[in-house]
Amino acid sequence: MSILGIIRRHRDARKMSCAEVGEVLQQYLDGEYDSDRAPLVRAHLEVCKRCGLEASVYTDIKEALAHQVEPPVESRDRLREFGERIAHGDISADGA
Ligand SMILES: [Zn+2]
Repeated sequence: MSILGIIRRHRDARKMSCAEVGEVLQQYLDGEYDSDRAPLVRAHLEVCKRCGLEASVYTDIKEALAHQVEPPVESRDRLREFGERIAHGDISADGA
């Protein structure tokens, strides 16, 4: 088997779940997720609509804070709800 093939298999085996991504999402988006798994987070966000949406909501909030304006209430609520769902283990497999 080629080295590339081994790397691919290895990568697949380490695919992250929504819950795993959710745990590190804010760190990742803040550029503070200093891990060799960071590319896995990015890959997950590209294929998972739900996590991609959460990422964009969080980015919106960061933008708003950077400009010293109030983030949209619905964005804050969504983010909090997402966090609570993860904390309760309500998020499982991809693609729901
Ligand atoms: Zn996901």
